[in-house]
Amino acid sequence: MEYITQNAEETKEIGRKLSANLKGGDVFALCGDLGSGKTTFVQGFAEGLGISARVNSPTFIIVRTYSIPTSKNNFPLLATLYHVDLYRLEKNVNDELAQLGLIEAVDDKKSIVVIEWAERARDMLPKHTRWIQFKNVDENKRKITINEDIY
Ligand code: ADP
Ligand code: MG
Repeated sequence: MEYITQNAEETKEIGRKLSANLKGGDVFALCGDLGSGKTTFVQGFAEGLGISARVNSPTFIIVRTYSIPTSKNNFPLLATLYHVDLYRLEKNVNDELAQLGLIEAVDDKKSIVVIEWAERARDMLPKHTRWIQFKNVDENKRKITINEDIY
């Protein structure tokens, strides 16, 4: 599935749509250059889950967690959204990934995990991971490709 968005709001809307009908344990892997809309997508995604906190890039702390309010979804109480950004990580540094708790997070059946720069953790992501590619087309145009095959 491929989308072209013309502004940030349209990219958020794709995030909102994709946050419907999730189940605990779902993992979304976002790849693409800086400024291609990954964090913007996560903002819409979190909004769709009923999270009212402002979602910022977790680049400097790598992982941010948000609790998902039960009123908006079918998740059990205390379900968590993990928003991960591996930009500052060296490629495939498995020790660091383990330290971040990422392995536990993707195994947690009460959680949803969204990872920016996910290609850096490719080896440790589960088979059911949904890969989403972001591309800068021009200043405001982004191409978002969702790989449905591997879901
Ligand atoms: P990334 O997390 O991939 O580095 P961000 O979502 O943080 O990217 O930044 C995207 C930037 O591009 C934001 O400043 C946003 O306002 C701007 N922008 C312009 N057009 C779009 C679009 N179509 N989709 C998403 N962001 C857009
Ligand atoms: Mg980002």
